[in-house]
Amino acid sequence: AKKAGRGQFAWYNVEMDESAKERQQLEQDLRLTVRNEAIIPYFQPVFCMATGKLCGFEALARWRHPDKGMISPEIFIEIAEDIGLISQLGWSMLEQACKSAGEWDPSLKLAVNFSPVQFRDPNLVVMVRKILRETGFDPQRLEIEITETAIVLDFDLAKRSIEQLRELGVSLALDDFGTGFSSLSNLRLLPFDRLKIDRSFVTGIYSCPENQKIVAGILALANELELTVTAEGVENLQDHQFLMSMEYQCQQAQGYHYAKPLPGDEIDRQLETKWSN
Ligand code: C2E
Ligand code: CA
Ligand code: CA
Ligand code: CA
Repeated sequence: AKKAGRGQFAWYNVEMDESAKERQQLEQDLRLTVRNEAIIPYFQPVFCMATGKLCGFEALARWRHPDKGMISPEIFIEIAEDIGLISQLGWSMLEQACKSAGEWDPSLKLAVNFSPVQFRDPNLVVMVRKILRETGFDPQRLEIEITETAIVLDFDLAKRSIEQLRELGVSLALDDFGTGFSSLSNLRLLPFDRLKIDRSFVTGIYSCPENQKIVAGILALANELELTVTAEGVENLQDHQFLMSMEYQCQQAQGYHYAKPLPGDEIDRQLETKWSN
């Protein structure tokens, strides 16, 4: 048993070493990549619940790594934050997403995720204004998604930034709602337009009474505060039907049940066929 224990320990060390090396390699690749724009937006369709019609897209970052294939943002966003590249990556994402969505029907909205670090960039408002001007994208079509972490770090700064972005005509959504700690007070004091209910409460809701109560509570609150709501992570028909049957409805929904995130050229194709109104 002792021997196995020691063996295990050695194996564990090798693993640690490997993953440290792996991480270092990814960091290095990421530094080169941000400049090359090898990180590109995919677009997940967002649908209006009442009409079933397409109402816009959420841009989601994808890294097409030359050897490792597609790398998830769950991995590289954190690395980019750690090594100080997240703002650059974020501006590049915003620019690319505005360029693509600028070609699509002007009734379609575009949501873009900003990291808490990017949201605290002193050039935040200047950069958003610059990219909107350079791409000619209508600010009224743009929604910026931030999580509570962006607010908790410096509430007053966040409040000012949100107000300045709204003056540009951009709207703001609070992402991953329900997973944070001080949600309710933040909501009252900050001028958000939308809540996005975290998918941990939505996926499988039809068979989970606890999540049904949580989501019903969020919807009643949002109704009270006159916020619109998007349900994320609707993966099956039962969840969709359950959401449709609720007293207060989400205005919008997204999830694999409707569509997965797709590259821009695929969106082009679908807009001509499947989603043409
Ligand atoms: P998020 O903002 O909460 O985005 C939703 C995530 O849920 C996306 O994962 C999307 O692909 C996934 N998803 C959508 N529908 C379903 C569903 O029905 N079931 C399940 N299981 N998942 C679904 P993705 O693309 O891997 O992105 C992960 C996270 O990475 C995002 O979570 C966001 O926090 C972050 N992220 C993505 N792109 C960017 C970006 O450009 N900038 C920043 N700062 N963060 C980003
Ligand atoms: Ca999001
Ligand atoms: Ca989310
Ligand atoms: Ca998330």
